[in-house]
Amino acid sequence: MSRRNVRFQGVIKNGAAIEFFGTIIPSLLLFKRDPRAWWQRRQSRRNRNRQPLPLLEDLLKRPNDAGRAGDTYIFIFKWKGDEFDLDAFHDSHDFLLDLERVLRAQGRRFRIFTTLSPKINLPELAETAGLGNLSPFGLLVHPRFGPRMLITGVEVEGGLPLPGQVEQPASMGCNDCGLCLSLCPQAPLERGEVDLRKCEGCSRCIKCCPIGKSV
Ligand code: SF4
Ligand code: SF4
Repeated sequence: MSRRNVRFQGVIKNGAAIEFFGTIIPSLLLFKRDPRAWWQRRQSRRNRNRQPLPLLEDLLKRPNDAGRAGDTYIFIFKWKGDEFDLDAFHDSHDFLLDLERVLRAQGRRFRIFTTLSPKINLPELAETAGLGNLSPFGLLVHPRFGPRMLITGVEVEGGLPLPGQVEQPASMGCNDCGLCLSLCPQAPLERGEVDLRKCEGCSRCIKCCPIGKSV
């Protein structure tokens, strides 16, 4: 069975299906790693506001890669290893808080997308922005970092001065080797389905990927 025959089943919440694995899996991994982290970050906003405002150009150098899909800018923060990287999560969150402060100070209209925003398919937007392609689970596979990363974004009027992107190798990311499908405990190759409600958050579908393993 090929990846094209594997169906995805989302989670029903308030009547709306959350169907983006690539957005939800990082949330599962975060809550598994440190359930308090998200709430702590929410409280950190007040402290951040007391710090000096960074220059926009300097701020935009913090992500490991960035790209643009229409009016939406996508930012990548890579994990240090194979496990969910809490530091990368905090870095991405601090980055968004600072970006919000700078854009607000400039009087611009914008909409921030955190790595946990369930209503927007950040991996798909990242693919449109030329930052990689999608794994069979709908995770972004970056040509250099593989699927081990956090994705954030902002929709903003007036554009952003992005620094040069990381030089992309010839391959665009996922090469369809099927390893992640064969290792998922849900046995999607036999069952023809991956159900987000049954996801164990084991992250095998991320850890096993050979793309970007040594980065
Ligand atoms: S393990 Fe193979 S199929 Fe899965 S995302 Fe990585 S390259 Fe693609
Ligand atoms: S490999 Fe693990 S984390 Fe990935 S979809 Fe399957 S159960 Fe979920």
